[in-house]
Amino acid sequence: MGRNIDNKCKQCRRVGEKLFLKGERCIGPKCAMVKRNYVPGFHGPKMKKRLSDFGQQLMEKQKAKKMYGLMEKQFRLTFDKASKKTGDTGKNFFKMLEMRLDNVIYRLGFATSRAQARQLVNHGHFTLNGKKASTPSIIVKEGQEIKIKKSSLKAPYFRNINEKVAKAERPSWLNFVTEDMSAKVLHEPKDTDLPQNVNAQVIIEYYSK
Ligand code: SF4
Repeated sequence: MGRNIDNKCKQCRRVGEKLFLKGERCIGPKCAMVKRNYVPGFHGPKMKKRLSDFGQQLMEKQKAKKMYGLMEKQFRLTFDKASKKTGDTGKNFFKMLEMRLDNVIYRLGFATSRAQARQLVNHGHFTLNGKKASTPSIIVKEGQEIKIKKSSLKAPYFRNINEKVAKAERPSWLNFVTEDMSAKVLHEPKDTDLPQNVNAQVIIEYYSK
């Protein structure tokens, strides 16, 4: 899969919102959205955004895509799959994004950013129903169990994992068990579990052109 090598903080500044791409730095005073809350570039501080309808649709799509750290091809593919499902396409789309394994690892607090979560999954540190799962794009299903691989618990990154997960605000659709660092998918995310800062309808309009 391709990789987005664009400066993470500039991605936030371009869309004018915190996208939480850099882990703990995002919640501290060093966040670029705290220090320089304007679009990057020489004219950035004076620039006033006046977007056309198309510009707004594009911006909303870019925001969601960058938030989940996906490249256009994969983002679009997920949208196409969601649009084939019955029900509300926007909700189905964001449910699928939320249920990606890398996002689940992030939501559980095993990683402080989705990029870090993806790397941990790629390195094969987790199991899904007892089997090694090293594909970040896997969509988890109701009833499945996610666990840190036993051998990975000895890795330096996981030595203080208790402290890391203690800081996480986990959604209610994931039942986390601290004793064995595992989680069960109880059900699909509810509407209130989906990101509230993205307008799904505008993204549907963008892709419907
Ligand atoms: Fe975005 Fe995080 Fe950088 Fe702040 S620190 S601008 S939230 S990536």
